[in-house]
Amino acid sequence: MFRFLGIISLSLLVANCYKTYDGYKIVRVGIDSEADYMKILKLETQDLLEIFTEVRSGHMDVLIGPKSWLTCQYHFKTGGLKYKVGTDNVGKEVEEEHKRLLLKTPVAPGQFSYDTYHRIDTIYARLDALVAKHRNISELLELGETYEGRKIRAIRITSNVSSDATNNKPMIWLDGGIHAREWVVPATMMYIIDSILGEEERDKSDRMAALIDKYQIVIAPSINPDGYEYSHESERLWRKNRAPAGCRGNKENWFGGCFYSLCYGIDLNRNWETPFFGQVGVSDDPCSLVYPGKAPFDQKSTAVIKNYLEAKKDKMELFVTYHSYSQLFLTPFGYTHNLTEDHDHYVEVGKAVVNAIAARHGYNYTAMQGAQLYPVSGDSFDWAYTVLGVVDSYCFELRPDGDSWRVGFELPEDQILPTAEENVDGLLALIENIKYEIGEESDDSGGESNDTEDESDPS
Ligand SMILES: [Zn+2]
Repeated sequence: MFRFLGIISLSLLVANCYKTYDGYKIVRVGIDSEADYMKILKLETQDLLEIFTEVRSGHMDVLIGPKSWLTCQYHFKTGGLKYKVGTDNVGKEVEEEHKRLLLKTPVAPGQFSYDTYHRIDTIYARLDALVAKHRNISELLELGETYEGRKIRAIRITSNVSSDATNNKPMIWLDGGIHAREWVVPATMMYIIDSILGEEERDKSDRMAALIDKYQIVIAPSINPDGYEYSHESERLWRKNRAPAGCRGNKENWFGGCFYSLCYGIDLNRNWETPFFGQVGVSDDPCSLVYPGKAPFDQKSTAVIKNYLEAKKDKMELFVTYHSYSQLFLTPFGYTHNLTEDHDHYVEVGKAVVNAIAARHGYNYTAMQGAQLYPVSGDSFDWAYTVLGVVDSYCFELRPDGDSWRVGFELPEDQILPTAEENVDGLLALIENIKYEIGEESDDSGGESNDTEDESDPS
């Protein structure tokens, strides 16, 4: 009997171990209106499909399993939705990537490489090693813990880092990895860190030295490590965090359990406090890939970052969050089509950034207002703009471009390095175009007026 149970539990374990996505398709659906979008959210609530990408100009991609395919086709036709199959068997691409990564030799503790996607332990060990090596200009920050108890770590880089005076320098915040499956993002963040510290991009050492004299740069390479690890171990295309979210369709049974199933994960990039929280571009179904949670910052991962940044808001000159994919540079607002009063500035910054990126390897990114894709509420760069008052607040979507018919989150490993390189150039162009320098401007920046002592002191 026990042996029998043992066999069952072992086979369940194997079955649950790694989702194969065998026979799953990526299907592009035309979205011409709010009503079209709501139809997709409804099919998602019925567990017939998963949202694969945000809405792009006029369409979105969804992931459909083999059992739901006929039903989805029926709903698309009766709902008047145009659709086209992109990738026919996602499982094949997921399996191929999985095999390739297994063949890579692991790096030694504290080392890093840009020819594969590394796990969170490797990323954190690298941060430890970098801070130990560059003591005068870097320190490790533990911002807090995730739902599953992993650390959310950041590195703070500035010249003469141990001096308290550095806290008065203007601050740049960069984060990555809020969406678990966007693996090229933490890798790019690590390359940016390596470049600023002089481990990479050595021909830019003078520029980097000037940069860290002037600024304190805080970089959190992987702010959803629970989801990131889960996407490596269990479901490659997992997007959210791993906290229990609630019952499918919010339907509970008479005993306080779930009528259907308990769902996991909150979309952390819908969980920030912005106007129209929980109302635009989200679903109230806890199973949805765009479920924002019950209230802003009800997730530990977003709350710890909010607490850290709120305390620094008077010093914040630049906020950037990195995602993949689509090759975009997005500016506020994300939650409404209305233009901000800084729109002309964004057009100028956008040109500088996409030109700098293209100059490196010839890849074209598009600069646009976030909501031009489709308005969503609760995203972090809108929070930084509207609540913290950081005018220069942006979101990158890295490679590949949005027209790719591949599984875009599985960027081939030989593109990690060029993606990271072009984004060092994009970031430098961005920093050169910051609108309000702390201490020089005060009235319009949204931040409180600081006295002139706040000007950076590179000594
Ligand atoms: Zn994302």
